[in-house]
Amino acid sequence: MANLGIPQNTIAVLQKYNFNFQKKFGQNFLIDTNVLNKIIAAAQITKEDCVLEIGPGIGTMTQYLAESAGAVVAVEIDRALIPVLQDTLSEYDNVTVINDDILRLDINRIVQEKNAGSPIKVVANLPYYITTPIIMGLFESHVPLKSITVMVQKEVADRMQVGPGRKDYGALSLAVQYYAKPKIVANVPPNCFIPRPNVGSAVICLTRYEEPPVGVKDEQRLFSIIRAAFNQRRKTLVNALVNAQNLSFSKEQIVQALSQMELSATVRGEALTLEQFAELSNRL
Ligand code: SAM
Repeated sequence: MANLGIPQNTIAVLQKYNFNFQKKFGQNFLIDTNVLNKIIAAAQITKEDCVLEIGPGIGTMTQYLAESAGAVVAVEIDRALIPVLQDTLSEYDNVTVINDDILRLDINRIVQEKNAGSPIKVVANLPYYITTPIIMGLFESHVPLKSITVMVQKEVADRMQVGPGRKDYGALSLAVQYYAKPKIVANVPPNCFIPRPNVGSAVICLTRYEEPPVGVKDEQRLFSIIRAAFNQRRKTLVNALVNAQNLSFSKEQIVQALSQMELSATVRGEALTLEQFAELSNRL
């Protein structure tokens, strides 16, 4: 099968199958061999790796992954793409295509079956409408992972990487940085896709920490505090936490914990680092 990273080859496949793009599935297919090579290089794929690809589309990146990885599992929600994938990936015997919704699939079971429970790599040009639930789902359900290398909307990549004091700093930044070291490896303009998305894109590589960079007694409590702090961004941290329905700290407890950390009672959540959120969570 011809290299689908070359635009004419993608167009030929789309015509052959009379394929209709489904906007609701966030379908923007990559048509740029340089970008594809960059993704494979950033993910440092070797024959030792088992790779989970989310949303293979017509199999463009899957071809590149199949060439470099030991095994590839590709999960695609759109049933209309399954016969296309059978065709475009017919010459690879190391690819398994699963027709399912990635948000409903038991990924831990797949890792158990396909890689004996050893850490996998996730590589994808993600459907942008579900970027956060996909990434948070992988981390929070503790899927054994080496890294996640994904194409996302440029603003979302920035949000994953920033620290306090920036307006896009928030719960996603803190969650990603608790689990992994983020690095943007490429900015990708709309003309690298068919059809063109109306936002800029970036490839970000999240390398999973073996141990989180901060020590917390209760992970769930840390994330409840972080979510509450940013749900009501414009309030002081004290008010945001007192108002949070799933937390039951008194105003005095929170003010005291902040004062022990030499933070003002009027500080906002967006000023705290991950270390400070962890310390606050432990003190509370
Ligand atoms: N990997 C292909 C490429 O780079 O050309 C396609 C990427 S396209 C941005 C996203 C793909 O994810 C589409 O094929 C879409 O059908 C699929 N998709 C959307 N939602 C999904 C879900 N919940 N589970 C699995 N796949 C999904």
